[in-house]
Amino acid sequence: MGDEGRGIPTIIEMAHLTRFDIVVANAGFMRALLNEAIHHTDHRDAFGLRLARQPLMQNVLADLAIETEAAMLVAFRLARAFDRRASDPTEAGIARPLTPIAKYWSCKRVPAVAVEAMKCLGGAGYVEESPLARFYREAPLNSIWEGSGNVICLDVLRTMQREPDAFAALMTMLDARANADPRLSQTLRVIRDLLADPGTLEWHARVVVERLACAVQYALLSEHAANPTPQ
Ligand SMILES: Cc1cc2nc3c(=O)[nH]c(=O)nc-3n(C[C@H](O)[C@H](O)[C@H](O)COP(=O)(O)OP(=O)(O)OC[C@H]3O[C@@H](n4cnc5c(N)ncnc54)[C@H](O)[C@@H]3O)c2cc1C
Repeated sequence: MGDEGRGIPTIIEMAHLTRFDIVVANAGFMRALLNEAIHHTDHRDAFGLRLARQPLMQNVLADLAIETEAAMLVAFRLARAFDRRASDPTEAGIARPLTPIAKYWSCKRVPAVAVEAMKCLGGAGYVEESPLARFYREAPLNSIWEGSGNVICLDVLRTMQREPDAFAALMTMLDARANADPRLSQTLRVIRDLLADPGTLEWHARVVVERLACAVQYALLSEHAANPTPQ
């Protein structure tokens, strides 16, 4: 129980942990979907060739793999922030906005990844005998409980307004990466422009949260890539 009149901050602290759970779960969810897609396409022949060897299918599998990798990197980065937040104010700051941002975006992407993975199995993916049908049914749930999409965006706005140091910690993390990357710095410029007018914040909140999520994913993917080649 929190103090009287402090209900929202109290429940947000608890929701932080459950939202972090969801970010990790979504990364695992995507991994399971990717595994199913790889397994099927690596065993089925169509037009005389193994599906996984065909260029169009390789594009789909590559997209699924990158999305899965990005979701995992964000989950691990958030885990690091949670691990260190008690003794490191910067990590505590990063954890605050990154939790709802990562929750929003991973929840939004799981259904799309489920559809794409299902298509890799063709008709066999659609029928109930395959696990894909159950995955597909389950995919939207995380985006509704523990804070539905719009409510999560409002939480991100609340962080920006009431905990500016926490939001600044996340932006500083991204700025450090953007110094050497024109594409990332351009995205951060767009985000800051969208946030410039306090009167339009709610109108822009979803776009801002989505761009922030993609910026974090991009920064982490390029940090961990073997040969990042920013253009
Ligand atoms: C399978 C399942 C299990 C659940 N288990 C639990 C549980 O164990 N414990 C528990 O407490 N709850 C549980 N829930 C409830 C869940 O947390 C709520 O359904 C969820 O928080 C959404 O609230 P709501 O259904 O009242 O929708 P609403 O609050 O009516 O929201 C409907 C839509 O309006 C949007 N919206 C809401 N406010 C705004 C706003 N200010 N501006 C713009 N858009 C807005 C939302 O984003 C959503 O898209 C469960 C739900 C499901 C589906």
